[in-house]
Amino acid sequence: MERVAACHCGKLRAIATGEPERVYVCHCKSCQRRTGAVVHSGSRWLKSQVRIEGEHKIYGRVADSGFEIRFHFCPDCGSSVFWEGDRGPEYCGIAVGCFADPDFPPPVYSAYEGAKHPWLGIATAEEHYPGPRPANLPVGG
Ligand SMILES: [Zn+2]
Ligand SMILES: [Zn+2]
Repeated sequence: MERVAACHCGKLRAIATGEPERVYVCHCKSCQRRTGAVVHSGSRWLKSQVRIEGEHKIYGRVADSGFEIRFHFCPDCGSSVFWEGDRGPEYCGIAVGCFADPDFPPPVYSAYEGAKHPWLGIATAEEHYPGPRPANLPVGG
């Protein structure tokens, strides 16, 4: 299966094949500011599953994990479509919202609930964390 994630103007696209390794939401304040949404919805893929088309700029920062994470965004419309980082160099994250697909697999975990807006519920998540998901847990749901 092939899915296409695109920025607001459509010039930057991430084309993913197969299924995401994990789908999650993050309530941290950095994600809130980055996306402009009250919650970030992310999907993780092997880089070998993902093809990028279009120009992109990069904003990098050091995450709470201590590793740098780099967000790739459209230079024309500003949507942050995908990211990659030093903690998992073989992976690429893609913003679930950029797929604009209500049938996309639901999140299996919910991180940084310490910053969650109280009216928001994540009905499908089986795991809930007040902070980051512990790094030593197995991947997936
Ligand atoms: Zn764009
Ligand atoms: Zn976050």
